[in-house]
Amino acid sequence: MDDCIFCRIATGKLASDIVYEDNDVIAFTDINPEAPTHLLVVPRRHIASLNTAEPADAELLGKAMLTAASLAKQRGLDGPGYRIVANTGKEAGQTVDHIHFHLLGGRFMSWPPG
Ligand code: 5GP
Ligand code: ZN
Repeated sequence: MDDCIFCRIATGKLASDIVYEDNDVIAFTDINPEAPTHLLVVPRRHIASLNTAEPADAELLGKAMLTAASLAKQRGLDGPGYRIVANTGKEAGQTVDHIHFHLLGGRFMSWPPG
């Protein structure tokens, strides 16, 4: 989808600080980091959000989650902890309509989120 920022990043049409990529998933630094580590883990295939994800997407979404966990471990965040977030819909703060997992870590995080 040419009008989707994350599709453009996934196809190399828009520059980003890519930290991991394979045939299914890409991960890059969030342009507006909210924590010392703030990565976005994004399936290459356009899925708008968890609201439109289907059972057939389970393996891809599981792979994205495990990629986030692996990137967290590489950065030493598995000890202190980290947060994986999938904002879904406007009230939850989703601003890019291409499914993505935020990986946040490197500072203390309060609960519940604002
Ligand atoms: P959401 O608000 O949908 O949960 O998360 C979207 C995230 O994408 C935001 O944290 C925002 O900073 C990030 N973002 C938006 N546009 C770009 C971009 O062009 N490049 C990168 N690297 N991150 C972006
Ligand atoms: Zn997209």
